[in-house]
Amino acid sequence: MKEYTYIMIKPDGVRMGLTEEIIKRIHSKGFEIKLFDVRKLDGEILDEHYAHIKDKPFYPTMKEFMLSDYVVPMIVYGENAVQGMRDLMGPTKSSEAPVGTIRGDYGNKEVINENVIHGSDSRENALIEIERFFNLKLNHGEDIIF
Ligand code: GDP
Repeated sequence: MKEYTYIMIKPDGVRMGLTEEIIKRIHSKGFEIKLFDVRKLDGEILDEHYAHIKDKPFYPTMKEFMLSDYVVPMIVYGENAVQGMRDLMGPTKSSEAPVGTIRGDYGNKEVINENVIHGSDSRENALIEIERFFNLKLNHGEDIIF
């Protein structure tokens, strides 16, 4: 089934000039990029987005990193896009990500938070994250129409 996912190139990916390469990989999987933006985030949106890790000791470093430069938020659409994008990205720790995945090829093997890209972990979270980062109000359960 076709679905939406929320993808975000992190500041390290933008700084390394990987935006074009990542877009190519997304397209080569057959996914569409429905919306695309380039911006700097604020602390408030990050605290919401990373509520599940906000109390971890590494969060202040992670937050500083995420605020350090531009990010590229995207809405990606396609067949099993949530899992398909997670497969394209590779696991959280770049040191454990296989060659051929975005994190395996470009992530920092020593610094865990510098893993180039974010992708939603479920269809429901994807819709929540799309609403948060694109300031949309969606009717969950129905397709988004652009
Ligand atoms: P994801 O879904 O693969 O992005 O992983 P999580 O939701 O668990 O973590 C969110 C983000 O926090 C990850 O993508 C990393 O950038 C960062 N992160 C997760 N675990 C660690 C850690 O142990 N140390 C550091 N420095 N960063 C981490």
